[in-house]
Amino acid sequence: MRIDVLGVGFDDLTMEEAVAAGMALLGQEGCHYVVTPNPEIVEVCRENPEAMEAVNGASLVLADGIGVVKGAAMLGTPLKGRVPGIEFAGGLMEKMAERGLSLYLLGAKPGVAEQAAEKLTARYPGLRIAGTHDGYFQEDGPVVQAIADSRADALFVCLGAPKQELWMKKNGPATGARLLCGLGGSLDVFAGVVERAPKFWSDHGLEWFYRLCKEPKRIGRMMKLPLFLVHVRREKGKRK
Ligand code: UDP
Repeated sequence: MRIDVLGVGFDDLTMEEAVAAGMALLGQEGCHYVVTPNPEIVEVCRENPEAMEAVNGASLVLADGIGVVKGAAMLGTPLKGRVPGIEFAGGLMEKMAERGLSLYLLGAKPGVAEQAAEKLTARYPGLRIAGTHDGYFQEDGPVVQAIADSRADALFVCLGAPKQELWMKKNGPATGARLLCGLGGSLDVFAGVVERAPKFWSDHGLEWFYRLCKEPKRIGRMMKLPLFLVHVRREKGKRK
């Protein structure tokens, strides 16, 4: 059963369990997709029913940020912990590499996915990169066809939220990939274009603050975090 946080149902999994669940989906017939919402995305879903449907329609809904974990605890339905999308992706690639599976990288500015591919093949020997494409295309058709032609086992979709969630729901089956993961700005990090917060900050639940200092233009988006906490408090009052 999923844990409801303001309408988004989260799977209550540790990182290890999440990676195992992802690998199990990769071994199954059909197409599945994974989403990793943070409080900002939960707020987007509250305002956008289509995004809410796409997120809740995923086979795995992982709690990306400390805010979601705090929110679930405040509501009296704690989650085991956070499962940052980028770490989930790392765990998955490690296992995929062991089995020689192939991965397609979609998203980010031109050149970034190729750079990420280079770094990832060096870091995960055995992992096959089936192809790459930037995230600034006008028509889905040719991109979907290129992915299908690559016969990739899995696909990372890094177009930002809620674009990537809507894209995966609509185009997932036609890509032929068995597992799609919506991973926001992860390709920028894999490519080394953007740095992740040092461990100290993430260990103290302050990764969001680090990112804000590095990219002050995120302030508008980040105002959704206090809004999220206000909504969680209100929901807690209603549940009493
Ligand atoms: N992006 C893209 N196509 C678009 C809009 C965004 O490929 O039409 C990429 C953007 O270049 C970045 C990622 O999507 O690499 C979104 O990053 P952001 O930091 O917003 O995502 P977060 O990790 O915060 O969800």
